[in-house]
Amino acid sequence: MRVVVDFTRCQGYGQCAFMAPDVFVMRGEEALLYDTDPSEEQRERVLRAAAACPVQALHIDRMSTQHRTVKAELSPPVMGGDEVFRRNGRIVIVGGSLAGGRAAALLRRDGFTGSLTLIGDEPYEPYDRPPLSKQVLIGRVPAERTMLPHLSDIDVEWLSGIPATGLDLAAKKVRLADGRQIGFDKVLIATGVRARPWPKEAEAALDGVFVLRTLDDATRLRHRLAAGAGRVLIVGAGFTGSEVASVCRDLDLPVTVVESGPAPLSGALGRVIGAIAGEMQCAHGVDLRCGVKVTALEGDSDGRLRGARLSDGRTVDADVAVVALGAVRNVEWLEGSGLAAGAWGVATDAGCRAFDLNGLVTDDVFVAGDVARFPHPVYHYQFMALEHWGNAVAQAEIAAHNMLSDQAHRWPHLSLPVFWSNQFGTNIKSVGVPTFSDEVVIAQGSVPDRRFVAVYGFQGRITAAVTFDQGMWLEFYQRLIEQAAPFPPDFPAVGQPDPMVPVTSGVPTRIVPAMEATVVVTGHDPAERRVSLVHGPR
Ligand SMILES: Cc1cc2nc3c(=O)[nH]c(=O)nc-3n(C[C@H](O)[C@H](O)[C@H](O)COP(=O)(O)OP(=O)(O)OC[C@H]3O[C@@H](n4cnc5c(N)ncnc54)[C@H](O)[C@@H]3O)c2cc1C
Ligand code: SF4
Repeated sequence: MRVVVDFTRCQGYGQCAFMAPDVFVMRGEEALLYDTDPSEEQRERVLRAAAACPVQALHIDRMSTQHRTVKAELSPPVMGGDEVFRRNGRIVIVGGSLAGGRAAALLRRDGFTGSLTLIGDEPYEPYDRPPLSKQVLIGRVPAERTMLPHLSDIDVEWLSGIPATGLDLAAKKVRLADGRQIGFDKVLIATGVRARPWPKEAEAALDGVFVLRTLDDATRLRHRLAAGAGRVLIVGAGFTGSEVASVCRDLDLPVTVVESGPAPLSGALGRVIGAIAGEMQCAHGVDLRCGVKVTALEGDSDGRLRGARLSDGRTVDADVAVVALGAVRNVEWLEGSGLAAGAWGVATDAGCRAFDLNGLVTDDVFVAGDVARFPHPVYHYQFMALEHWGNAVAQAEIAAHNMLSDQAHRWPHLSLPVFWSNQFGTNIKSVGVPTFSDEVVIAQGSVPDRRFVAVYGFQGRITAAVTFDQGMWLEFYQRLIEQAAPFPPDFPAVGQPDPMVPVTSGVPTRIVPAMEATVVVTGHDPAERRVSLVHGPR
């Protein structure tokens, strides 16, 4: 049986851990770990746990096809659209993971009976990535038991282990690496991202250097950590790096974290909340070095990692290094397709329809998940690329609906981003966009206890909230963000500090995805003005 917990809903109440303690375990106050593939003998207890969950966050065998943040979906879908296409059309989905698998299930749920092909370059059925840096690394669940519930009963032609290498929009075909061409009427791009490798190839190839994105990455790293390590070096203290550091400490392995920013998680949550995450790391025995870069990884004559050089002139001895420097979008296969695809992802409108290079919206090409870059009305229509589980699910639902709908019945993707992370026994959750802020205030709880709600504001309105072991407040703040409620919060709340003092949030200044210009505009009158992509600095 397959279980997935929708952590965008889970509030860490722990009833599931009470009902089925072999399957669900609380780590600390609110951080839940679970077995993604419990045995059939445990089915009865798991079903009881699902029934007891007050927010219906447990999905067993199949994932729910309703997303709570998109209210329109709670009523039966009204689509209009082309009945002939819905009965006999051809849809191809490229990218067979969370967003792709989810969209396939929804297309069938919404009555698409035509041909549906799912192309994935990994040899596995869609699996869930969040457990890879949590229960898999710690050894609670083997990586191969993270399969998402359930593709096998969806009527889909599943082409696995084969990458798409091109998209021909004129001929309406996806090219595959083995030379095949798959025709479509509509295509969904859901190719996600991959781990950004260590930039120096020879150093990246040293035995002991790892990245963490795929099931195979997690298996390899788990084996190495289980075998023991003199010291683990983590390069980059974003969410993945911090979660790996947390697991290393749980395994009692010495760990050094090197982060070029001022604090862990500061790229996503800003300097103030990042500093609290940093204190948490130090309290758990992490040797944390911030404001420093790794300049070289060094190996011995047998090609085994021995340590690293840092930009402050110091060195670190380590036999394992985990490179956690963020992600690269999987867009190379779209080169020459005419779509607005580049280092920034694939640009779309708010209905998941891809833009072409000229910024014109296409009608038959849709994009969902980590690879998408879309405008969010709540954030001044700023284009966002989110690497969040909840966003991949929500966009898959919008894209699937819009593929089957006419213009009048299409839905916009308006869900607020929600993210969670479990580290050092603490459940960190975020709603909204913390980087879209100038100030932050602790609105509830206590920082020394590491149980608090931090609320972010931009020019006098609430734009995000981050909780440490206070997940139950997230929905409340989500509503405030949607209502553009004033910042700082002007209502009494449980555990409100007195006084509440907003401080500068210390989020990074805008990150520009590509430093050099990547398009040029040519032509003079409107009928002939076009853009084309430019590679490398001009
Ligand atoms: C270790 C880890 C921990 C995480 N933890 C959290 C968490 O705690 N909370 C949270 O909100 N999110 C978390 N995430 C992020 C979350 O898993 C992603 O947002 C989600 O997987 C995105 O799904 P996707 O389908 O868009 O992309 P992916 O999951 O990246 O899937 C894309 C698929 O397309 C395939 N593909 C790529 N190119 C091609 C091609 N040319 N042809 C065919 N197939 C192709 C890829 O191999 C992959 O299988 C975590 C991610 C990782 C790696
Ligand atoms: S909210 Fe549901 S899934 Fe989350 S810990 Fe509670 S019972 Fe378990």
